[in-house]
Amino acid sequence: MKDMLLREYRPKSEAVTSAHHYDKPRFEVIDIHTHMGKLLLGPDYDVQYGTSQFIERLKSVGVTRLCNMDGFWGDEFDRMLRKTAGYEDRIFNFIWIDCSCIDEPDFSSSVRRHIEESVRKGARGIKMWKDISLETKDKSGRYLRTDDERFNTVYDTAAELGIPILIHIADPVAFFRPVDKYNERYEQLIAHPEWSFCQPYRYSFNELMEMQDNMIERHPHTTFIVAHFGSYSENLAHVGQRLDRYQNMYVDIAARIDELGRVPYSARDFFIRYKDRILFGSDCTPLSYGEHQTAYRFLESRDEYFPYWPEDEEPDGGRWRIYGLGLPDDVLEYVYNKNAKRLLRIE
Ligand SMILES: [Zn+2]
Repeated sequence: MKDMLLREYRPKSEAVTSAHHYDKPRFEVIDIHTHMGKLLLGPDYDVQYGTSQFIERLKSVGVTRLCNMDGFWGDEFDRMLRKTAGYEDRIFNFIWIDCSCIDEPDFSSSVRRHIEESVRKGARGIKMWKDISLETKDKSGRYLRTDDERFNTVYDTAAELGIPILIHIADPVAFFRPVDKYNERYEQLIAHPEWSFCQPYRYSFNELMEMQDNMIERHPHTTFIVAHFGSYSENLAHVGQRLDRYQNMYVDIAARIDELGRVPYSARDFFIRYKDRILFGSDCTPLSYGEHQTAYRFLESRDEYFPYWPEDEEPDGGRWRIYGLGLPDDVLEYVYNKNAKRLLRIE
């Protein structure tokens, strides 16, 4: 026996348990969180995939409709409309707000015009991303806050037009902690140092959660889908309290199966209690494969201790495995499509 580097250690589980494969979900799925544009694929995204192939591939795993988070604004939105043309009943584009203009005196009127015009062109929602509070500064040199009054027009216009805002505010809590031997996502942060937000000049995780509360509380007529399980999948009691308090708040499960699947008892109770507030999202792109079926297995099966990543690949996250929730049909139907239909006003 000799010492070994952590990155070399890849234990194989010897637990023999039943394993179920899910080609299709129990009910049709509306995937409310996908990325078809430049955010994850780069500026030449439109030549990297065919829209019809993407739609067909999703259909083969039971996804009938999807929300694309990458509508952006201006010419970029027009380009996305061309890329998704002909699929208006299947692809729902969400637009972004150009936060670099926040100091302009006409920000409020121009942002309202942008939202109204985009909705006329077919936008179905607004996406706000973590760059707002983690990367973008205003002219005073401070990072923006999601509870900044200058965003009121965005929240009010969304409420008036009856479109949801899907907002990604924070990342896993471990990304805000020191990258040291106690960090449960150490390997992930070593591989992606830019994902660490543990710097004294940034807002802390708790500050981000405070802003999130303020934003939702001050705009009770705006529908907020807080991505990644309300930003805090590590603390279901925290998220549950907010869902009790704010009737205009919803959460998606995108990229948080790893977190939810390691606490299957409390996660199962949570899904049953808040079934009408949780939406299915995958965070997939036209170039990423396989996540949907793992999500179905997680939600539907009672399989134990299985990897949340594709078995033949290295885990890109914490060193743990997950458990299926075995959710009842009624809960699955809400999460897979009923809640999305209500918020997107379809059917
Ligand atoms: Zn995303």
